[in-house]
Amino acid sequence: MSERITGHTELIGLMAYPIRHSGSPAMQNEAFAKLGYDYAYLAFEVGADEIEDAVKAIRTLKMRGSNVSMPNKTLVGQYLDELSPAAEMCGAVNTIVNDHGHLTGHITDGIGFMAALKDNNIDAIGKKMTIVGAGGAATAIEIQAALDGVGEIVIFNRKDEFWDRAVSTVEKINTRTSSHAVLYDLADLDQLKKEMADSYIFVNATGVGMKPLEGQSVVPDKSYFRLELIVVDVPYSPLETAMRSMAKEVGCRTMNGLGMMLFQGSAAFELWTGEPMPIEHMKEILN
Ligand code: NAD
Repeated sequence: MSERITGHTELIGLMAYPIRHSGSPAMQNEAFAKLGYDYAYLAFEVGADEIEDAVKAIRTLKMRGSNVSMPNKTLVGQYLDELSPAAEMCGAVNTIVNDHGHLTGHITDGIGFMAALKDNNIDAIGKKMTIVGAGGAATAIEIQAALDGVGEIVIFNRKDEFWDRAVSTVEKINTRTSSHAVLYDLADLDQLKKEMADSYIFVNATGVGMKPLEGQSVVPDKSYFRLELIVVDVPYSPLETAMRSMAKEVGCRTMNGLGMMLFQGSAAFELWTGEPMPIEHMKEILN
C-alpha cells in the first residue's frame, strides 16, 4: 500500500457508524491495486449528526466519492446534487460519485443482487419473484428488480414498522415501472405457499437466518419448496441458513448473500472507475 500511495492518489470513503468491522476497505483497495487505479479507500466513523459535514468534506477534499452505510443511507440524499432513479425510488443512497463537484447518489444493493443472479445464470426478467422483506436490502432489491423488468413481484412482510415502507414500494413499482407488485402479511402462510408455488424465484431479504436470528426461517417447513424454485438468501453470515438447508433437501438451487455483497461493491467500483471489479480475482480472495 505504501508503495502505491503518491501525491496524486485520490480518496474514496466509507461513511457509517459503526463501521470498523467492514470488509469493504480490503475489497475495494485490493481491486484498485489489481487494476492499477490510483485510489485509496478508507472507512470513516460518521454518524447521523455528522453526515452533512462529511458530504461537504467530499467536495472540499475533492474526493472521488464515498460509500455510505447505516445510519446515513436514508439521510445523505438531501445533501447531494442528484440521485439515480433507483436511489430516488428507494429513498436511500449507498454510493456517492463526485464529478468535479457534482455529487450523485446511487444505490447499488439492488444492482448487486441482480448482477449476482446473472453471474449464476439466473434470469428473472419477465418472471415471478416472491420476496420477504421491506427493509433497506429488500427495498433496494424490489425496486431494482422492477426497473430491470422482473415481471411480477410478490412482497411479504410482518406488520411491523417496515410495513408502510412496503406499501409505498408497491405503489412506486406499480405506477413507475412496467412490473406488477403486490403486498401480503407474512402471517398469511396459506398465501405465502400459494405464491411460492408458481414463482420462479424466492428471496429472503430479511435478517432472519443471520445473527441474532440464526437458525430461524421465514418459511416454516420444506413443503413450501418445490424442485424448480430458485431460493435466495440475502444474509451471508452464517453462509448456510435453516431456510436454504430445507430448500436444498428438496433439491432447489440456492444462493447466499455473498454474491450480492461482492457485486454491490463491484457496481460502486464501476461508478467511480468506469470499469467493473476484477470479479474472478475478488472471488478467489473472498474464498
Ligand atoms: P432492515 O433492518 O432494514 O430490515 C429488516 C427486515 O427484516 C424488515 O423487513 C423486517 O420486517 C424483517 N424482520 C426482522 N425480524 C423479523 C422476523 N423475526 N421475522 C420476519 N421478518 C423480520 O435490515 P436490512 O438492512 O434490510 O438487512 C436485512 C438483511 O440483509 C440482514 O441480514 C443484512 O445483513 C442483509 N444484507 C445483505 C446484503 C448483501 O450484500 N448480501 C446487503 C444489505 C443487507
